[in-house]
Amino acid sequence: MKNYVSPVILDNEELAEGVYASGSGDGCWTLTIKRFDQAPEVGMDCYVVHFEATHNATDNHSSNSQIFVFNFSADVEFNDEKTSSVDLYAGDGTSTLKVKRNNFGNPTGEFVGISDLYVKCKDSSVSCYGGYVICEKIYK
Ligand SMILES: [Zn+2]
Repeated sequence: MKNYVSPVILDNEELAEGVYASGSGDGCWTLTIKRFDQAPEVGMDCYVVHFEATHNATDNHSSNSQIFVFNFSADVEFNDEKTSSVDLYAGDGTSTLKVKRNNFGNPTGEFVGISDLYVKCKDSSVSCYGGYVICEKIYK
């Protein structure tokens, strides 16, 4: 009989060493969806996510970059032309979209407000649920 081995949570094998997936319970970043609106000026099937995130690390690490993970009720496509604050990271065309922000965040009190995450969706009743943030931690 094999010994039980605890599962190791790896969000993405491409993540560099020292990067840890912070699930919803980990808590160095809190993510809040402020609004999820239709954006008919972009296209009838276009939507924009307004969200805020705050970094408060209890172990005083800084955040070198952030991956924001959003869950939608339907498959969405990232709109690269309209979105400038974050880059596509993974999940384009699925209901779990991951976008990356390559900006430094201080250990505590770092606030990020983004209102230009545009997605395309064929389902007119689509909604955006909260997600979580993967923090690339730096310890000094
Ligand atoms: Zn962090």
